[in-house]
Amino acid sequence: SGRWATAMAIIKEFEEKCATPIGKLKQVADAMTVEMHAGLASEGGSKLKMLISYVDNLPTGNEKGLYYALDLGGTNFRVLRVQLGGKDGGIINQEFAELSIPSDLMIGTSEALFDYIAAELAKFVAQEGQDFQLPPGRQRELGFTFSFPVMQSSIDSGTLIRWTKGFSIDDAVGQDVVAELTRAVEKQGLDMRVSALVNDTVGTLAGGRYTNKDVVAAVILGTGTNAAYVERAHAIPKWHGLLPKSGEMVINMEWGNFRSSHIPLTEYDHSLDTESLNPGEQIFEKIISGMYLGEIVRRVLCRIAEEAFLFGDTVPPKLKVPFILRTPHMSAMHHDTSSDLKVVGSILKDILEISNTSLKARKVVVQLCNIVSTRGARLSAAGIFGLIKKLGRDTLKDGEKQRTVVALDGGLYEHYLEYSKCMENTLKELLGQEVSESVIIEHSNDGSGIGAALLAASHSQYL
Ligand code: ADP
Ligand code: MG
Repeated sequence: SGRWATAMAIIKEFEEKCATPIGKLKQVADAMTVEMHAGLASEGGSKLKMLISYVDNLPTGNEKGLYYALDLGGTNFRVLRVQLGGKDGGIINQEFAELSIPSDLMIGTSEALFDYIAAELAKFVAQEGQDFQLPPGRQRELGFTFSFPVMQSSIDSGTLIRWTKGFSIDDAVGQDVVAELTRAVEKQGLDMRVSALVNDTVGTLAGGRYTNKDVVAAVILGTGTNAAYVERAHAIPKWHGLLPKSGEMVINMEWGNFRSSHIPLTEYDHSLDTESLNPGEQIFEKIISGMYLGEIVRRVLCRIAEEAFLFGDTVPPKLKVPFILRTPHMSAMHHDTSSDLKVVGSILKDILEISNTSLKARKVVVQLCNIVSTRGARLSAAGIFGLIKKLGRDTLKDGEKQRTVVALDGGLYEHYLEYSKCMENTLKELLGQEVSESVIIEHSNDGSGIGAALLAASHSQYL
């Protein structure tokens, strides 16, 4: 009937607009390397901030003692303690706790957010058992993983540039986040020093390097997306400090804010962006990361419901609620292998309150999930390819058997298998058969927490 023809036409147009042929991905990757150079050349020289992390040495394996980490990044925050064994000792013991951040705190005041975090940290420290040993007279030390753009002035200080991922706490912008945390920690009567402030990508890179010497970059695909890598210090023109002894500096790219005319954007992406908390910002993030994929699907579905009456004569009211369809719902539907698409049916019923959906309508939903996740996954592969190009590891050097390992973490990568499979296949396609054999994507399960603790250890006041 006419309804179906309209529905198919909307989907077809959307699919065409989302297309990411390999040539386009190569243009995106090249634009990424161009922007990397520009961001390294001067402050404000690019959409890519290419932030200096003040991490000029990655973990060696000699780190020793009890260290804490606190990871504030998106939907959840984690606290962790780890007993490091020193040379060849590895990780002797570790414990963590994970809590969700009450949504009112994400848009409240800086004081309220940090008070809450410090209170949970204090509770966790109070549960420290005999398996963890702090030498007498020593202060506990913490690595603070903070996954928002921060302009650092040292390894243990830095001011918040802006919020992303649904956070919006105006009075925290421009403040030193370590000072904020320290004040809240003192208010709890907790004797603890923040020794390292690290982005989650930098933490993941550090954690990855601890277990694998060939790790040179880290990428997060979670609520948001970002990447960090090891740069040669003399290739950072905007760095006017002393050249580090190692000759290296870890750069936090803040690639979520990347944008390029080669990135395929649709009307749905434009309206999502306009109505977001940070319009015009984080465009790459808004089409590839977990916070937004489900929302894009919802927007297209809504249009099909309005114009092609996909779910009957009226638009189901829940379908109009922004962010009601989360990416985990989307991936559950996308992964539905039952012949009658049972999972799709029950998510449509439970989340969107649309009952008795036809198999045909369910297939439309799966098709949309596939279009949106494929575009995101292929563009994330293009980003990684651009990064590998910047490292000069997209070609094989004569007689060299160098391995390039990229540590990957984040709930999207970990749980959305259609997405991660597509990302990895696309990266292979971009690298070519031969080079792709030397490039390894390694899942770093919560490497960022361990990484922050390791960096707290290597920047301890007792060294
Ligand atoms: P964060 O990025 O908030 O630090 P995570 O790395 O744990 O935290 O990623 C959480 C994000 O991962 C969620 O916001 C969601 O978008 C995505 N995610 C979690 N579970 C799934 C899933 N089953 N399928 C798809 N995406 C998921
Ligand atoms: Mg995280």
